[in-house]
Amino acid sequence: MGLKIFLNDKLVDKKDAVVSVFDHGLLYGDGVFEGIRSYGGLVFKLREHLDRLFESAHTLTLEIPMSKNALEKAVIQTLQANRLNDAYIRLVVTRGTGDLGLDPRKCLRATLFIIADKILLYPKEYYEKGLVLATVPTVRNHPEALNPQLKTLNYLNNILAKIEATNAGVNEAILLNAQGYVTECTGENIFYVKGREITTPPPYVGILKGITREVVMRLSKENGFSVREEVFTRHDLYTADEVFLTGTAAEIVPVVKIDNRVIGAGIPGKSTLMLMKKFRKLTPKEGVRYRAVGRQ
Ligand code: PMP
Repeated sequence: MGLKIFLNDKLVDKKDAVVSVFDHGLLYGDGVFEGIRSYGGLVFKLREHLDRLFESAHTLTLEIPMSKNALEKAVIQTLQANRLNDAYIRLVVTRGTGDLGLDPRKCLRATLFIIADKILLYPKEYYEKGLVLATVPTVRNHPEALNPQLKTLNYLNNILAKIEATNAGVNEAILLNAQGYVTECTGENIFYVKGREITTPPPYVGILKGITREVVMRLSKENGFSVREEVFTRHDLYTADEVFLTGTAAEIVPVVKIDNRVIGAGIPGKSTLMLMKKFRKLTPKEGVRYRAVGRQ
C-alpha cells in the first residue's frame, strides 16, 4: 500500500497529491506549516501545533479552510490511513492558486495538505557525542520584516544559514539578530545551562516560539532549575556549562562545541542528559490519542 496524503478535503494516493504551479505557496512561499510528531499512537501537543498554525495564518490573513477540530480529525485520519503509530506529520496550508502577481486576493481558496510518514531520526551520534555549531553571517529575519514567530513557507533565511553551516563544516548554524544577540538555529531553539540556571532567548529577539521549547522550560522548572528568557551573546554560550537545542524532530540535542570553543567538558552535560530522559518519558503522554489500525 502506497502513502496516502490528505489533500484539501480527502485522502489521495501519493501520485495524485499534486498542487498547481500557480499555487502561491510555490510561487511566493505564501503559506504556513507545522511539523508534528506522533509517539506510540499519540499526537504530541497537537492542539498547540494547531493553535500556532492558526496564529501564523491569522497574521498573514490566510484563511484556513477548516476548523481546528476538523483539522485535528484530518491529521488522525491521515495517520490511520497510513497505519502509523510513530510518525512525522507535515501540515501545510498555502494561499492557494492565483495568477502570476503576488496579490493574495486573487487566490480564492487555500490549499491544504497533510503528509504523515515514518520519522527519520537524527543520527544517534548527535545525541551521544553532541553537535558542533558555528554562528553564521546570515542574520535572523528582523521581526518587523518577517517575524520568525510566524512559521511560514518562506524559510530561505534558515536555508542560507544552513548552507553556511555546511560550508563551515559544522552540524548546525546559530543565527544572531541584527544587534548581535543569539536567536536560534535553523530549525531548533537554543538553551544554555550555567549552574542551576537555564536560559533561552525571549521571542522578541526573533525566534520561533518552539513547542518543545515550552515543554523544556516547564521540565527545567519542575526539576529545580530557574528558567530565564533573556537576551544573550555568543560569549554567554562559549562560557556556559552546557548548551542544547530543542525541536519537534530533534527533541533535545546536546551541543559540545561552538565556533571552535569547547562548551563545558566537551561532552553532553548531565543536566541536558537528565532533560532528554524526562522529555522522552513525557512524549507518549501529552497530546491527542488515536488508534492506528495495525502497526508500522
Ligand atoms: N525554530 C525554528 C526556526 C523552527 O523551524 C523550529 C521547528 N522546526 C523550531 C525552532 C522548534 O520548534 P518546535 O519545538 O515547535 O518544533
